[in-house]
Amino acid sequence: MKILLLNPPAPQGQRFTREGRCTQQSAIWTTLWPPISLVYAATLLQANGHEVKVIDCPAHDLDLEDVSHLIRAFRPDTVVFSAATPSVESDLALSSMIKNINPAIYTCAFGTHVTVLDQQSLSQSPSLDIIVRNEPEYTILETINALEQPGGLMNLTDISGITYRDAAGVITRNEARPLSHDVVDALPFPDWRLIDVNAYRLPLKDKPFVMIAPQRGCQFPCTFCTAGTYYGKKLRTRKVDLIVQEMKEAVEKFKIRDFFFWAETFTANPSFVRELCNGIIESNLGVSWVCNSRVDTVDGGLLQLMAKAGCWMISYGIESFNPDILKGVRKEIEAGSVNTIISLTKKAGILASAHIIFGLPHETPKTARQTLKRVLALDLDFAQFYCAVPFPGSQLYEQALKEGWLDGTHDFTAFRQEKAVMSLDTITRNEVERVRAEAMRAFYLRPKIISRILRLMSIRHIGKNIISALKFLKTVR
Ligand code: SF4
Repeated sequence: MKILLLNPPAPQGQRFTREGRCTQQSAIWTTLWPPISLVYAATLLQANGHEVKVIDCPAHDLDLEDVSHLIRAFRPDTVVFSAATPSVESDLALSSMIKNINPAIYTCAFGTHVTVLDQQSLSQSPSLDIIVRNEPEYTILETINALEQPGGLMNLTDISGITYRDAAGVITRNEARPLSHDVVDALPFPDWRLIDVNAYRLPLKDKPFVMIAPQRGCQFPCTFCTAGTYYGKKLRTRKVDLIVQEMKEAVEKFKIRDFFFWAETFTANPSFVRELCNGIIESNLGVSWVCNSRVDTVDGGLLQLMAKAGCWMISYGIESFNPDILKGVRKEIEAGSVNTIISLTKKAGILASAHIIFGLPHETPKTARQTLKRVLALDLDFAQFYCAVPFPGSQLYEQALKEGWLDGTHDFTAFRQEKAVMSLDTITRNEVERVRAEAMRAFYLRPKIISRILRLMSIRHIGKNIISALKFLKTVR
């Protein structure tokens, strides 16, 4: 079969990453990620004899008209595309455009949003044939293999992990596909030749990078997060020698030495991270990488080892400094340990970034400003400030529906982390957005942060970065 795998154009031409629990718009210090799920799926399909093409529309500023030309030129049998909550309407509308070009093309969507709201998404999008739920790669492969046989959609009855519209138009939800540990080691290395890796650059440094998935799943129960819903609540780590081999191939084939360890919480199993760091050090590859973490999963020794293995920045999910809020969302980290871990991170020579969410249950304007004060007192290099968004698939979504925090609205285009969508009894949407804007200004408009950022910027792109920074500041004025 000929399969086109698409990261669809985002609304208003924004640059949008859609990967697992992460839906983010790129900005000056968040970047567009290489679409690893599409590349993984395409690599697997290709290894099984299918002809594939991967198109990342946001990376190349492609709009719907460009996609239409691409489809007419490539003439795929199936189009597989990722979908995410804030862009789900336009993502799913893609299927009607595809069917208008050729009604015989099968349309297939995957991602966290459609995994959770599969039947609703199919009902609302009559031109969408199939939704792949959860971990997509092997489900996509089996689906394509089945579609290739005479009978097409009629062959999908036994494919686990899909919800689909059969030839008679009936929506059928097949049984779930078990999240097997074998999958993480069985997947082929993503074939980055399928995309233009140079289109993905580290923010500020402007160097090309690729993502490496060292593990899948997350054992923590944070109620605002969809990680466990998509890749499961059990941590599945890959064999260390496979990960090191994958890095070696990226260095040798693509001359890429910068990596983003894409994991729900990279340090969720510290002994695995120790083993991996030792493997990277022994390989002598001279690589640099970034990752995310929780403050209760690292210590000074591990941070030193990570630095030695090439880690130059860690993003910590801190969310709030208020113990009641943290307890309420089941992110039971010790707010008191944050300062120590950030200091140990810096002492190890690693840049520290924090993720903060305003407007979680129990938030008040006072607790939000107390959190901001604590953040400003930390020795951080970057901070991402978000408004709490109850993404479908999170426990917070169920809670928000039950408590009426969404004011009856289901406008998913508003589910973006720079916008507040929940009205709590304790804080209004406007107040959440106001504190977030205040936090951005208070954090970034400090001479020490401005000088750190300027030092990090590549000289070649300093002009471009400054223009982006000015645009960013305009949004938080
Ligand atoms: S630690 Fe919590 S926020 Fe982080 S990925 Fe796991 S569940 Fe999500």
